[in-house]
Amino acid sequence: MGGTNIRGVLVDPSGQVAGSDACRRPADPVDMVDAIVGLVERLETSVGSVVAAVGVGCAGTVDHQGVVHTSPNIPTLIEFPLAAELASRLRRRAVVENDATTATWAEMQTGAGRGLTDVAFVALGTGIGMGLVLGGELQRGANGFAGEAGHMVVDAAGPECVCGRHGCWEIYASGRALGRLTRQAAREGRVPAIVASVGDIDSIESEHVSGLVAEGHPEALAVLDELGWWAGLGLTNLVNVLDVSAAIIGGGLSQMGEPLLSAIQRGFVGHQHDIGHRPAVSIELATHGPGAGALGAALLARHDP
Ligand SMILES: [Zn+2]
Repeated sequence: MGGTNIRGVLVDPSGQVAGSDACRRPADPVDMVDAIVGLVERLETSVGSVVAAVGVGCAGTVDHQGVVHTSPNIPTLIEFPLAAELASRLRRRAVVENDATTATWAEMQTGAGRGLTDVAFVALGTGIGMGLVLGGELQRGANGFAGEAGHMVVDAAGPECVCGRHGCWEIYASGRALGRLTRQAAREGRVPAIVASVGDIDSIESEHVSGLVAEGHPEALAVLDELGWWAGLGLTNLVNVLDVSAAIIGGGLSQMGEPLLSAIQRGFVGHQHDIGHRPAVSIELATHGPGAGALGAALLARHDP
């Protein structure tokens, strides 16, 4: 469940997707519960089987009981016991987790993290979300809030973040950051062709830049390299703290594919000062794309006893 839509998948006993559906997300939390119940019923009808358990990946901070405390993309969800409401309406088990956490689970079970035990999944979207697997176990933290890597400060003298602090990682390395870095480069006269193609500096958004990256535009690739440097800085901090063997890059920005991945890999290597003393960390793109959150939620509901 995200800012705009609710996406549902029904997973069969072998873990394969048997059916999928989606709907607009209502604004009111009670209507959201109705919408999810409706999705479950439509999926049951279309697949012709009874759902045993329901999992939801929800943007925001979600505790161990499946209470959504806050959700920047769904402002009406405040202190809402989504898991309990769903379980009572559906009369079966319901689990609710942060959507980056459920996406991580999808990548670990059937995607880029298969066979690995120590992985950071980093979702580069509007902000930056993270899911963490250590020793093969999904990490949720003391309160269910583990993985707020987007608000790790990488430049205390940087611009103010939505969280109130300055220089958070997501200001430099998220989807939204691509537009911001390009506007900054434009003000410094470094990307005249991009300014000419968009019209004016303030109208430059990430979508313009990602479109130009796909065409191999040198100015757009230079800005992407800058984002890769910042992404590599944050990943280096995470690797130093967590000692993961792999980082998996997901989220909307990862749809850019290979140019993004190589910019991040270059940025990451540029921050390494102990090469030769520890095994190389692999940085790969996520396998499941935007559907990872829903798939992982279903797989989690099935997995947890
Ligand atoms: Zn912040």
